[in-house]
Amino acid sequence: MIKRLKLLSTQIVQRVNSSLTLPGQCVACCAGFQGQGLCPACLNALPYNHQHCRQCALPLPFAPDQPVLCGECLKHPPSFDRVITPLRYQFPVNRLISRYKYNHQRSLGRPLIRILVNAVSTHLACAPTQRPDILIPSPMHPAKQRKRGFNQAEDIAELLSLSIGVPWSVTLVKRQRAGTAQSGLNRQQRLANLKGAFVITGRPPPRIAIIDDVMTTGATARVLAQALKTAGAKEVEVWALARTPG
Ligand SMILES: [Zn+2]
Ligand SMILES: [Zn+2]
Repeated sequence: MIKRLKLLSTQIVQRVNSSLTLPGQCVACCAGFQGQGLCPACLNALPYNHQHCRQCALPLPFAPDQPVLCGECLKHPPSFDRVITPLRYQFPVNRLISRYKYNHQRSLGRPLIRILVNAVSTHLACAPTQRPDILIPSPMHPAKQRKRGFNQAEDIAELLSLSIGVPWSVTLVKRQRAGTAQSGLNRQQRLANLKGAFVITGRPPPRIAIIDDVMTTGATARVLAQALKTAGAKEVEVWALARTPG
């Protein structure tokens, strides 16, 4: 069963991968190579998030003997159940993501999305009972989305959905308050800034994955997961391209 799942996910991933990127040039170093997205050297040199908190995926500076919780998760247990985020938000991942979302250079996001697809596919092959019923892209306030032109979380959710065959929805959760920018705020201020920001428009299915590009303090994920659980969701996880160090 697991073998069949693995084979199926590999075939779907290969199909999606082959249709998404332009061949011939590395999107990070511009070197010519036989392939798509990132050249093998850049792919190997990416900052992968191998050592992390088992619940919020906060990067850890050491390799623990067994899965551990970070201080923040011990002090304030999050409402989300787990996080899959294969990369650290460091060079060149930070540069690729910021050009992807602010300059709409979608080809720069593709190789990172493929890495997330692979991480998620591996996880689901090993833990098929944790397969979500629906993917929810972290919602952006409509005014902000109009200004930016697109919500990168929707772009990522759409490609994940195509790859793993789980539907995605932009209607189940709405962002009703724009709030001020989260950067520069401490934990309490971030949570206060997000109070009442999300409206759940219907009864959510039991298992949900929230999709985002970068997970920073996790304040947005905490508030959104709590809102979904209050509305009836049983398990909420977060899938993001990259995690900041703190
Ligand atoms: Zn390269
Ligand atoms: Zn943690």
